[in-house]
Amino acid sequence: MLLNTNCNLCHSTSIKPLYSKADLNIVKCGSCGLTFLSPFPDEEAIKKLYSEDYYLAWGIQEPKNLELVRSIKMATFRRELEHLRKYVGSGKILDIGCAMGFFLEAARESNWDVYGVELSTYAAKIAQQTLGQKIYNGALEAAKFEDGFFEVVVMSDLLEHVTDPASFLTEVMRIIKPGGLLMIVTPNLESLSAKIMRRHWNHFNQEHLYYFSPGTISRFLKEKSFEVLDVYPAVKAFNYIYISSQLKIHRVPIVTPIIKLLDKILLNNSIGQALFYAYAGEMSVLARKTEIKQDVS
Ligand SMILES: [Zn+2]
Repeated sequence: MLLNTNCNLCHSTSIKPLYSKADLNIVKCGSCGLTFLSPFPDEEAIKKLYSEDYYLAWGIQEPKNLELVRSIKMATFRRELEHLRKYVGSGKILDIGCAMGFFLEAARESNWDVYGVELSTYAAKIAQQTLGQKIYNGALEAAKFEDGFFEVVVMSDLLEHVTDPASFLTEVMRIIKPGGLLMIVTPNLESLSAKIMRRHWNHFNQEHLYYFSPGTISRFLKEKSFEVLDVYPAVKAFNYIYISSQLKIHRVPIVTPIIKLLDKILLNNSIGQALFYAYAGEMSVLARKTEIKQDVS
């Protein structure tokens, strides 16, 4: 087990304990405040984490549930695309960690030229069924996109899973064209839910190696030649049917039996289908890659 003794953002070695839980040790850089796990789970544990079960946890092996997850996720992503449209409305867009490709399906509806990268073979296959060969199954670096290829790159619930955000962002910066946009959605360490729940915050888990705040994510982006345009709360779409199906997959004492009763009232009518949007302690960050500086030497 290797402890993380250097900050990935400012390289300081002044690393201080923040919270300790059964299987997690969360530390904070004494200099810039970047928060991360130390040690990270070992490679074997990480591999296990992202096996087929990772997506099966959403219950998508059943076609009915896959459709439900698709409709809920697409509702969330259509809102994100609206935000994006204020700055740019067309061109090549890449979703890194695109999972089953639902963001890209939503983007294609509004005429974006869509590309995806996904590590999980299981999820990438599902994405390829609807989006074809523009879904690359593997790591971002291995996809070898040309310099400045994309107008927009999106990373939703991704950067917190990456072992070296600094070098990852260097590669992301390379493939965005000057003036192009980067959109990041990630848990916000300074959100109300994080402040209230402290060490019990739901985003603290083995999958999430880093925990960003508006301050640390902005500093990362500035160091990679991005100008931060906007940081705002990320909202996600839900409806009763979706919550009910998730609670039957992930059983919770007392709640799951109540849901079974509610199902009789809500499942087959418009109330059950009504979408609502909730803030779940995550932030969206929009940044623009600055134009290349002229070499004046
Ligand atoms: Zn630091």
